[in-house]
Amino acid sequence: MSDLTVPATVPDRDPGVDPYRLPRSVVPSRYDLTIEPDLAAFTFEGTCITTIDVVERVDRIVCNAIELDITRAGVVFEDGRTIDAARIELDETTERATLHFDTPIEAGIRVLHTEFTGTLNDKLHGFYRSTFTDTDGVDQVIATTQFEATDARRAFPCWDEPDFKAVFGITLVIESDLTAVSNGAEVSRAPRDSDAKHVVRFADTMVMSTYLVAFIVGPLDVTDPVDVSGTPLRIVYPRGKGHLTDFALEVGAFCLDFFAEYFGVAYPGDKVDLVAVPDFAFGAMENLGCITFREALLLVEPTEVTQPELQNVTDVIAHELAHMWFGDLVTMKWWNGIWLNEAFATFMEMMATDAFRPEWDRWASFGLSRTMAFDTDSLETTRPIEFPVVSPADAEGMFDVLTYEKGAAVVRMLEQYLGANPFREGIRHYIAQHAYGNTETTDLWDAIESVTEEPVRRIMDSWIFQGGYPLVTVDLVNDGGTLRFGQEPFAYAGDLGEGDAAVESELKARTWPVPLIFTQAVGEIVTFEQELLERDGLDVALFEPVDWVLANTEGTGFYRAAYAPDLRASLVAKAQAELSPIERYGLVDDAWAAVLADRMTAVEFLEMAEAFAAETDLSVWQRIVAALGSLDRLVEGDDRAALATRIGLLVRPALLRLGLTPATSETDRDRELRGVLIEALGVLAVDPVMRTEARALVGLADSASTADPSVLAASIAVVAASGGAEDFDVFVERFHTATTPQEELRYLYALAAFDDPELVDRLTAMTLTDEIRSQNAPYLLARAMGNRTQGPRAWAFVHEHWQTLGERFPSNSIVRMLSGIRSLSDPAVAQDVYAFFEEHEVPQGDKQLAQHLERLEVNVALRARASDALAHHLAHHSAR
Ligand SMILES: [Zn+2]
Repeated sequence: MSDLTVPATVPDRDPGVDPYRLPRSVVPSRYDLTIEPDLAAFTFEGTCITTIDVVERVDRIVCNAIELDITRAGVVFEDGRTIDAARIELDETTERATLHFDTPIEAGIRVLHTEFTGTLNDKLHGFYRSTFTDTDGVDQVIATTQFEATDARRAFPCWDEPDFKAVFGITLVIESDLTAVSNGAEVSRAPRDSDAKHVVRFADTMVMSTYLVAFIVGPLDVTDPVDVSGTPLRIVYPRGKGHLTDFALEVGAFCLDFFAEYFGVAYPGDKVDLVAVPDFAFGAMENLGCITFREALLLVEPTEVTQPELQNVTDVIAHELAHMWFGDLVTMKWWNGIWLNEAFATFMEMMATDAFRPEWDRWASFGLSRTMAFDTDSLETTRPIEFPVVSPADAEGMFDVLTYEKGAAVVRMLEQYLGANPFREGIRHYIAQHAYGNTETTDLWDAIESVTEEPVRRIMDSWIFQGGYPLVTVDLVNDGGTLRFGQEPFAYAGDLGEGDAAVESELKARTWPVPLIFTQAVGEIVTFEQELLERDGLDVALFEPVDWVLANTEGTGFYRAAYAPDLRASLVAKAQAELSPIERYGLVDDAWAAVLADRMTAVEFLEMAEAFAAETDLSVWQRIVAALGSLDRLVEGDDRAALATRIGLLVRPALLRLGLTPATSETDRDRELRGVLIEALGVLAVDPVMRTEARALVGLADSASTADPSVLAASIAVVAASGGAEDFDVFVERFHTATTPQEELRYLYALAAFDDPELVDRLTAMTLTDEIRSQNAPYLLARAMGNRTQGPRAWAFVHEHWQTLGERFPSNSIVRMLSGIRSLSDPAVAQDVYAFFEEHEVPQGDKQLAQHLERLEVNVALRARASDALAHHLAHHSAR
């Protein structure tokens, strides 16, 4: 395990020191893999003929394997001679197979032949089974793969490290009525001589890493291919869902062309299949040419979903397709580089979505993702974006908000600072230079630096190798004649006195070269400037008095801003007229963070939010409403009712401006804004009229609703927050009978919002049954822990059933489930949580768990600090 303050380095490559790195004495170049799954017995058999370069004479061959029974292994020589391994040793700790030979194998190109069997597990990793009920009510089984990070070794013996790239020639032996897909295009399909099974052969892949291999077998249907500049694109889906595939085809076709143009290189595979899998641990996976998805992130009927749901589908398809170049064609050398792989794909996903639907204003909604990254990066237990990765558990721990969202934000900051075109030239240079190869993070910075001649590596090293981020301070000095920018590390106030003093003083000393882009207004003249804000700060001479200053133009910098009081007041006053939505978003977001950092009071925040009554942008409202929801957790009884009244006074006029019914001329974002305001009014403001209206809109008496999807989704949330057992039953029924994946999730996740201990008990009990898929149950429990009043009860359930949940849910989802504790704030509950995790651990998410625990501490501290003052204010003041 690595420590927060240890500088990141490439792990030691000496296999004698590092038990997780394979020796380099034998290097594979090609796998001819044949797999025969048995979908009834949940088993598979395989053979693999691996072409290997024996670099030096060896008496053993070491590769990766786990949960495989290797029944035979032998080396075949040019003259046909085979030497079988005398002994095959499996080590579960290092997940390795060691093949011992009595006769040493001389250096040269050799062929290793292995035969093995395994189980189609239900843990959603390796080669596993996924099930669904078809349209005739028949239970069906799919055998599918998920190999990233280190689970290819569960399906076949292999050199399972990203820089052992090789060609894969895959053959699947399947029942004649099933469909099979893999990375390459199908080249032949014929009945086997010995029985009626079909042998399906796929084209060789390009050289690539083991974690990108995929094969899927089952009762699947396939759309007709769409020709995208010569690449056939198809959607593969469980039978019966063909009507939900058009949108994914449209997005996929757009993105393939978009990325080929952006990267300046044609798509590197021979076809693209986008595959919907009913049980899937992650969101989606970028297997070359055979990309797997959760159903809700691929199959969609655009007229029946909300704008965020549709944008989510677009994002994820774009993200995975970006990986075909950035990740699959050019790959990190080792898992410490996973952050760049994911950060860059996240950045490209937004760029592609922004190009696909400019009216969605994708960079404005990126503000919400950036907020999530800030929220973790404001903690003492944050981590550097890049850190040493030794074990597979370390690699698993890298898939978090800092890798994806902070990583993407700092890439975006660099791109905006350098300019979009010079940045893209740097990327093209990097892709061309390293195609089919493996890279370190610094190779990217060097490529961009060589094109732009900016100090890219120095800037990025400081953002990548130290955790946290700066608060940029803005002051007027010298009688208003000088604008002074400074920086200090931003941190929440949550330390209850148990922090490590050495860590704290190291944190306080951090500085960054900040790519500062700022706006200043003098009279009618508004100008933009950019400077690198270094450790010593920056003075800008003013020749005329400045009207207002904004320190993060277009919100592209990964930093927060704190203004001197006068500057802040003038900025808030000008916000609606002069700032863009993402800039206003930043103003609100920074203010709420200031409350958590004890730099602003909750009362000051409430009054500032009320200054946004004329706001019209979706993202800004989403941020305001979320922060008001946090305020709502600080007060009880009459004070809470007074807050509800204040929220109603703020939100109701905005909803009246929009009206309850969508207008044909309005944008997708306006439609969604209506939903946000309805939910705020019905849930936080406890508006009785809205609650009645929501019940009517959900159509509780009828079987379906004809409401606009955003209005419907919001109404479902309102009914859940105020509903009882009968409503709960209706929601469970609708979850089971939903006709789209999105509708299914909408009703399922709404179950976590009911405010009734008995219903919470019913819900948590359901997570222990097959009624709820293990891919969804952890997220449902996270939501249940986020329930304002019932959260502690949901936590008690997790506490009590810890071991069962750990066995039942995918390994990667445990720490995500625990994100629910970030919403708790009761000191007694917090003590129980802390005590529990003194005794229990989550090795694959130890850093994230520490962050969840510290975030809980921040809530407890805020509650102790702010509740009384907010209550007092609400009792004695009404809205200004
Ligand atoms: Zn990704």
